Amino acid sequence: MSSFDIIVLGSGPGGYVTAIRASQLGFKTAIIEKESLGGVCLNWGCIPTKALLKSAQVFEYLKHADDYGLKVEGVDKDFNAVVKRSRGVADGMSKGVQFLMKKNKIEVIKGYGTLKAGKKVSVKAEDGTVTEYSANNIIIATGARSRELPSLPQDGKKIIGYREAMTLDKQPKKMIVVGSGAIGIEFAYFYNSMGTDVTVVEYLPNIVPVEDEDVSKQLERSFKKAGVKIMTSAEVISVDTSGDGVKATVKTAKGEQILEADIVLSAVGIKTNIENIGLEEVGIATDRDKILVNDYYQTNIPGYYAIGDVTPGQALAHVASAEGILCVEKLANMHVEPLDYGNIPGCTYCSPEIASVGLTEKQARDKGIDIKVGKFPFSASGKAQASGASDGFVKVIFDAKYGEWLGCHMIGAGVTDMIAEAVLGRKLETTGHEVLKAVHPHPTMSEAVMEAVAAAYDEVIHL
Ligand SMILES: Cc1cc2nc3c(=O)[nH]c(=O)nc-3n(C[C@H](O)[C@H](O)[C@H](O)COP(=O)(O)OP(=O)(O)OC[C@H]3O[C@@H](n4cnc5c(N)ncnc54)[C@H](O)[C@@H]3O)c2cc1C
Repeated sequence: MSSFDIIVLGSGPGGYVTAIRASQLGFKTAIIEKESLGGVCLNWGCIPTKALLKSAQVFEYLKHADDYGLKVEGVDKDFNAVVKRSRGVADGMSKGVQFLMKKNKIEVIKGYGTLKAGKKVSVKAEDGTVTEYSANNIIIATGARSRELPSLPQDGKKIIGYREAMTLDKQPKKMIVVGSGAIGIEFAYFYNSMGTDVTVVEYLPNIVPVEDEDVSKQLERSFKKAGVKIMTSAEVISVDTSGDGVKATVKTAKGEQILEADIVLSAVGIKTNIENIGLEEVGIATDRDKILVNDYYQTNIPGYYAIGDVTPGQALAHVASAEGILCVEKLANMHVEPLDYGNIPGCTYCSPEIASVGLTEKQARDKGIDIKVGKFPFSASGKAQASGASDGFVKVIFDAKYGEWLGCHMIGAGVTDMIAEAVLGRKLETTGHEVLKAVHPHPTMSEAVMEAVAAAYDEVIHL
């Protein structure tokens, strides 16, 4: 039986990054994967969606070329080519992980892995052969899939999940997107830009409900301006798929309403891949669909660890990677600090983009903290005006007494690349004064961070 220091089960951004760091630290490492290397993120999540969204953004630019004094005639899209490009980008990234595995001398084992007691994993290859491997430490990183609601049973054709939504061979004319988290909103933006008539149905009172309320309201305005229909405090209670298209019954405060469309995208969250992987046989504890772990990702059974979407932290690629790195550094007896889940940035790559970290204004007020809030609109930013991207703002929240940077919320062009400033500032326990005195380049969108901080301290210049 082949034996390793570390076996990683699953090769998403949690698993493959863990394996690389483990190998760097001198561990003999193997990774088990049943599909393509790279997991959801590279094959079905972060990367292919961003490729689709880039096509949508370029298409928007071309459609609005006039705004920039340019004449572009005959602008059109080829939906299948857009999807093909996205798949090509995903395949390329997965091959990149293959290369990284080889470079780091990580053994890649193809097949379906099942945990066994005594720190073993049995792997069933595609041809049915079963091989057993053992390791001193086994790290579970099996990720998640699209969550199914009883009212929205996914048939892959008329009621679809994210995988189908990014590989449709025909663009729907009308689409209902159920759920307005990052996944639902990104697809709503993409399909609307491509010319599909999109209705977003959200159960809660605001779209992107985890974001600051000001951000939700701004996005709703921008989406409505772009032609997306939005129903909040609304619930899809059933979908009739018997006809040509779909008829969704939506319950709202005003009663029930029937929406007709070609397709329904269910984007109501994720379900972890924790069934049929041997957790019960080994005795690994779970709670509410997640594997229970301590600060260093140890499960209740010695020698077994879990990271990424299968654990309780935010279900994001950068969280999965950070958890995996921390887990193996701890195994290497390095001095590591537990991850600060309060300082994880979250991004939504629609247009305008959304990026945030830390407490929302409501969360800070609900905690009874005395706060200073500053907001700077991109309409007052020279770079935003020059770019034709004046929608949105940066909002910052500071503790009034100690100057701690409690939260940063952005909506606008390119803000997903700007949020790292707030993450780093908060990590270094910076105060508003220091951000204000750190000279930002002009003209950039990032000046809006400095100006928002200035606004919090009544020193704003350009408002
Ligand atoms: C449409 C979409 C867009 C997203 N966009 C973003 C984004 O922009 N930014 C962001 O941070 N996050 C994004 N996410 C979330 C992100 O993809 C996940 O948080 C991330 O992939 C989780 O990583 P993971 O390693 O825990 O698991 P996964 O990426 O799910 O990988 C798990 C891997 O384990 C394999 N596996 C499972 N069971 C077994 C088994 N028994 N044997 C062998 N292999 C197995 C699976 O095949 C899979 O490859 C997005 C998700 C979706 C669905």
